[in-house]
Amino acid sequence: MTEQRGGKGRKHSKKRDEILAAIRSTVSHPSARWVYERLKPSRPALSLGTVYRNINLFREAGELISLGVVRGEERFDGRVEPHSHFVCSRCGRVVDIHEIPDKILEAVGEMGEERGLSIEPARTVFYGLCGECRRGDSPDPAACGPVTCRQHGCGREIL
Ligand SMILES: [Zn+2]
Ligand SMILES: [Zn+2]
Repeated sequence: MTEQRGGKGRKHSKKRDEILAAIRSTVSHPSARWVYERLKPSRPALSLGTVYRNINLFREAGELISLGVVRGEERFDGRVEPHSHFVCSRCGRVVDIHEIPDKILEAVGEMGEERGLSIEPARTVFYGLCGECRRGDSPDPAACGPVTCRQHGCGREIL
């Protein structure tokens, strides 16, 4: 993890480090609110606005990427190397997909070329239902909320 000291004379703070570290600590592709709730107990003065601002700075600096809005909240990824994602349309779970057959990547690239588009096939997003949602095992996402399941007491990160 490289620290960007001195860049644009921006002050380097421990708080900023913690925000980036929180995002990189999970593969759940968290939202700003998830980061806020994770850090809040040890940083009572932290505001959600501060978390958003810092995430945006990290995004502009290429330290993390935005996956766009999933179930009403923008989600972020600390792994910036190109990789694809699966998004569960029901519970909002986001999963990394690294092994896409070359054949598919090539076909997607060619399909784009035919339309004059430069598609980055390695950044494809797939939508569908995750295993738990398919089985009907997933708690009602509306009841659990997008951060952590509290209603069911399982403490699982729904996201
Ligand atoms: Zn699901
Ligand atoms: Zn990812």
